[in-house]
Amino acid sequence: MFDKSTWIRLPRNVVVGHDVRSEVVDVVDDLHLQGRPLFVTSPTPREVAADPIAADFDAAGIDPAIVTIEQATFDAVERVIEVAEAEGVSYLIGIGGGKAIDIAKLASHHLGMGFCSVPTAASHDGIVSNRGSVPDGDSRHSVAAEPPLAVVADTGILADAPWDLTTAGCADIISNYTAVMDWRLAQRLKDVEYSEYAAALSEMTAEILVDNADLIRPGLEESAWVVTKALMSSGVAMSIAGSSRPASGAEHLFSHQLDRLAPGAALHGHQVGVGSIMTAYLHGGDRGIWRDIRDALASIDAPTTADELGIDEATVIESLTTCHEIRDRYTILGDGMNEEAAREVATKTGVI
Ligand SMILES: [Zn+2]
Repeated sequence: MFDKSTWIRLPRNVVVGHDVRSEVVDVVDDLHLQGRPLFVTSPTPREVAADPIAADFDAAGIDPAIVTIEQATFDAVERVIEVAEAEGVSYLIGIGGGKAIDIAKLASHHLGMGFCSVPTAASHDGIVSNRGSVPDGDSRHSVAAEPPLAVVADTGILADAPWDLTTAGCADIISNYTAVMDWRLAQRLKDVEYSEYAAALSEMTAEILVDNADLIRPGLEESAWVVTKALMSSGVAMSIAGSSRPASGAEHLFSHQLDRLAPGAALHGHQVGVGSIMTAYLHGGDRGIWRDIRDALASIDAPTTADELGIDEATVIESLTTCHEIRDRYTILGDGMNEEAAREVATKTGVI
């Protein structure tokens, strides 16, 4: 008896390229979104993107409400919900880096409204995925939400973003290699649901990015193009899988634990990149692909050591030995590494 079913939720309009910022009004119109939007943004993205887009809406006879958030917190989500209700808006547009988009995603989910994503930095795959992540006390919570109805990624704006954010986005994609290894392992050992399509897409995305690493240089719109398309494709893999598995394995657990142990020390993508070097070693030993991952990260200027992350040895070891506890997700870390093993993998891979 065949009784499987799946529900794949994808953005309907994905618009990427030069000066597409000016097409947000058309994108919204194409989606038949009626009424007033609420723009959720943060200070710098407001200047470079939200204000000019607001002017386009004004010109089209639509008066957007705007809320500027400073920090990604649950309080900020609450505030956005209050403003949305007070202003009588009917959909949300997140305009910014990860923060503004995550907040808009979670608030719109709560409000039962649609939302669009206008990323101003190609820093992680959250710009298109259906997961929102917000710090909660001393940890980060990844919450199921809905994927954006549309993504409008202006390569001119993205190319002007701080270079670190772009290299973090690249590292987040390179980590797909180990995320997929963990997923396959979990399928074999724990019968976790697995999608061959999603896994293949996720790996191929990482491969294309690594093959194009030469094109990825500061200030180039072409780089923003390559990275953004890879982030989209990673997000699509997650949508097909119906989970973050294709792009999030033990290297993400490691990074989430670093967020708790050393908040704000390094960017998400940079942390998962370093995590990925070590978990690749755990999967394949010395003959595995850990060197390829390290070299790919180095070639795009992403950190490959604890030092470059600005995180000390003890914290790396603590994270490796405890991060399996933060989430019920089976990975190569199994039921946890002991300290000696953690020190060995971190030393052998040159992370510490
Ligand atoms: Zn990530």
